[in-house]
Amino acid sequence: MGDLSRRDLLRATAVGAGAVALPGVLVGGSSAIAADGVGSSDATYPPATLTGRIVRPQSPDYAQASIGWDELFVRYPLVIVFAQETQDVVNALTWARQHDVALRVRSGRHSLEGWSNVDNGIVIDVSELKDVHIDTATRTAKVGAGLNQSEAVTALGEHDLAATTGTEGSVGLSGATLGGGFGFLTRYLGMACDNLIGAEIVVAAGANGARVLEVDPWNHSDLLWALRGAGNGNFGIVTSLTYEVAPLKSVAYLQVTWPGLDDLHEVFDAWQRVAPFTDPRLGSQVEVHPNEILLFAVLAEGSEAEARKLLAPILSIGNPTVTVQIDGWGDTYAGFQIPTDDEPANWKFFSQFTREPFPEKAISVVREFMEKSPSPDSNFFTQAFGKGAQRQEPFGGAAFPHRDALFYSEPGVGWGTRGEPNSGDAVTPIAQTWIAEFSQALRPYVDGAYVNVPNIGMAEWETAYWGRNFQRLRKIKAKYDPHNVFQYEQSIPPATH
Ligand SMILES: Cc1cc2nc3c(=O)[nH]c(=O)nc-3n(C[C@H](O)[C@H](O)[C@H](O)COP(=O)(O)OP(=O)(O)OC[C@H]3O[C@@H](n4cnc5c(N)ncnc54)[C@H](O)[C@@H]3O)c2cc1C
Repeated sequence: MGDLSRRDLLRATAVGAGAVALPGVLVGGSSAIAADGVGSSDATYPPATLTGRIVRPQSPDYAQASIGWDELFVRYPLVIVFAQETQDVVNALTWARQHDVALRVRSGRHSLEGWSNVDNGIVIDVSELKDVHIDTATRTAKVGAGLNQSEAVTALGEHDLAATTGTEGSVGLSGATLGGGFGFLTRYLGMACDNLIGAEIVVAAGANGARVLEVDPWNHSDLLWALRGAGNGNFGIVTSLTYEVAPLKSVAYLQVTWPGLDDLHEVFDAWQRVAPFTDPRLGSQVEVHPNEILLFAVLAEGSEAEARKLLAPILSIGNPTVTVQIDGWGDTYAGFQIPTDDEPANWKFFSQFTREPFPEKAISVVREFMEKSPSPDSNFFTQAFGKGAQRQEPFGGAAFPHRDALFYSEPGVGWGTRGEPNSGDAVTPIAQTWIAEFSQALRPYVDGAYVNVPNIGMAEWETAYWGRNFQRLRKIKAKYDPHNVFQYEQSIPPATH
């Protein structure tokens, strides 16, 4: 406690029962901060109270504050803390540890297994941390962990800048980036996590406290590596993210529709042989729906003629409707968003990566399952990877491993009506079975899974998400969270030796 100032001491003691746990302020810990900057594991911290915007079950806004995007999962937390500043997160984590209360971290609420919420526990929610600092000279952006993807794309777009995000604007930037994060710009700019060059993170410290770490390629570089693809609720609570951003003035955005599924074999085969190998400025997705095939493509800094030329082998199949728009990336992104209220209440997905083109048999599986889909909101979604910027790891590396994928794919199904609890109950078992059988039928053709779209029933999910990186992740976990404070159904356990 040698360097604790008198003012800090007064702050820590004057509040009495409501004491604030100051980062690095310890009780009875002599050499509490080790040489590597990580707290020793036995130091104890003063009692903490919760600060920030606090919602409890008695609060009128409890239901709204608790519900996630996927209403299939309903949880009843003891308390939700909406942090207004980093210190609120420090206090909440310290409080949770001191009261032995289960905790979950939450940002955009889109966890597809409901893992950012917990019965009888504390939800530490960072969604109200919305600061944005963009430095156009150094092309870096430091943003609060509460931005959603739309807010981030819009803020950067105002300066003709961009970083990779996923396609759904309401998804949290934190959750998407920390698990990898791919979208239309992945082949051009890499994964969202590759654009991440720093973070502020609140980690567990000592026996019952918390502290703030600044992470970048030179400080706690092992933790930055882990946050790039395995950071979702595993090591600490990220409160801000710093990205390297790239200039992006305009994009050509194509929407292509083939009615029915008759062209599926030809369209899918052409897409998987063209889209992963074409100009890396072109990102594309195919969505197979029960009654139509959709292709969406974004060509960064490209013209309509160029985009049509790059996609010609696909556009020449059948008689599709094609629309093209040239605009700034921010406006284009805003334009393809679907309001959450218009989406079904319940969702189930299964994530898969593919390294070899689908043979005819696999495409037949897709058609067969789409023809017996359990709801009109069923689809088979793909995102092209292949020869693009995501092949190259960022400086310092990243835990995200699936760099050599040809494409990502997922069967997905949505059902039930938002705001009408139980409206989807009759479909739930049918939808769950359809997803399980569909993903199982594709197993011979896929390799690996995506932690941001977790597969709950999967054996060996650890290597499916992270391959050989899993062992290193366990060691980093043991260093930064030796007491395994951050744990959930598929969290990374600390290494034991
Ligand atoms: C409709 C939809 C479309 C999607 N499209 C894409 C896509 O195009 N590309 C793509 O890559 N992914 C996509 N995803 C997956 C998405 O990336 C994940 O669902 C993501 O983890 C959600 O993050 P969140 O912050 O919204 O969710 P949350 O539920 O808040 O959090 C998700 C996970 O991240 C952890 N977490 C959140 N914030 C923090 C933090 N600050 N510090 C530490 N841990 C944290 C949580 O504990 C939880 O484990 C999509 C998901 C949905 C539902």
